[in-house]
Amino acid sequence: MISSNPNIYYQWKHFSDTSSDTLASNDNLDMSTMEVASTERSTTSECGSDSISNMINFISEGIFAIDRNGIIEMINPTAANMFGQSRDMLIGRSLLDFLGANQSHEYIGLFERLLSRDNQVINHGPKEIKLVREDGSCLEADLSLSNLPESFITDRKLIIGVMHDLTSHKAEYGKLKRLARTDFLTGLANRHAFEESLNTNWLECVSDEMPLSLMVIDVDHFKLFNDEHGHVTGDKCLQRIAKTIESCLPARNCLAARYGGEEFALVMPHCHSQIAQLVAIRIKRQVEALTFEDLGLGKDVNITVSVGIACQQKGLYHTAEALLCSSDIALYRAKEQGRNRICCV
Ligand code: GH3
Ligand code: MG
Ligand code: MG
Repeated sequence: MISSNPNIYYQWKHFSDTSSDTLASNDNLDMSTMEVASTERSTTSECGSDSISNMINFISEGIFAIDRNGIIEMINPTAANMFGQSRDMLIGRSLLDFLGANQSHEYIGLFERLLSRDNQVINHGPKEIKLVREDGSCLEADLSLSNLPESFITDRKLIIGVMHDLTSHKAEYGKLKRLARTDFLTGLANRHAFEESLNTNWLECVSDEMPLSLMVIDVDHFKLFNDEHGHVTGDKCLQRIAKTIESCLPARNCLAARYGGEEFALVMPHCHSQIAQLVAIRIKRQVEALTFEDLGLGKDVNITVSVGIACQQKGLYHTAEALLCSSDIALYRAKEQGRNRICCV
């Protein structure tokens, strides 16, 4: 489709039919491509207003212009790539077609509002949007919209949109978010994620009048293990214990965390005390059955754990913290009674 205003389309299109589409599709611009861009810029620097529209085609941010109905009048190659279609195909299409029902609703009245003020620049955003492309794939981006003064490029009022691709930021953010919740040594949830899970599940279980079991596990005489076999072997041992604990989780909504040092904790929503005890028996047995011959240790070297369990049911506790204290008290009792055992409040 071609713009309803051929002049506008020509102004943006005529310059960029050469190398700019290639530029926009290449994330890793090398020096030779940069040279092309700068040469083009210098040869057009004396072309007056044309040079602005020409430059836009070389910018690595997505830039487009729409009318009061969201119809795309102009679009640079970077934006076209983000929309997932050629520029020719996009001219005359509505931005709303790519925003999905929920977001479109938000933007419908906005275009009119942006254009309602004369001689005043109004900006909207940057705001996170999700472009829904025609092949069904999505692209997350930041979108800023500003009204263009009348007769800046055309004799009609337009809105200029600047889009920044958030794909790599989102991936990095997701990675950092996962790392912030994960224990580096064992790969289990860390203390922060444990606290969050406990508090969330506490609120849900209390309001739904469902049980919530909490288990704390402490490796027995682990200082001795380290002293005898070294910290590196100790680390590997903790990793195996973590794997064993994780494999014993009774349901997907349960969480196993490294609480700190050689201590682990399990949050088990919707689990009665009896279920928690069965889980604890399985963990205790499986940890005891671990062998470390592949790490160069003797057949007789084994590890045991002590376990404390507390369960919130029938409003027994008033806070999540009280439940945690109670499971800790149970753990201390297991230690006092000789270790390698399970105590339940
Ligand atoms: P208890 O049965 O009373 O729990 O005895 P314990 O020796 O396990 O308890 P203690 O609190 O005296 O010692 C805990 C040990 O756990 C000491 C510390 O070196 C070890 N530990 C804590 N974190 C790590 C870790 O990340 N790696 C290794 N290898 N050891 C750790
Ligand atoms: Mg300990
Ligand atoms: Mg210990």
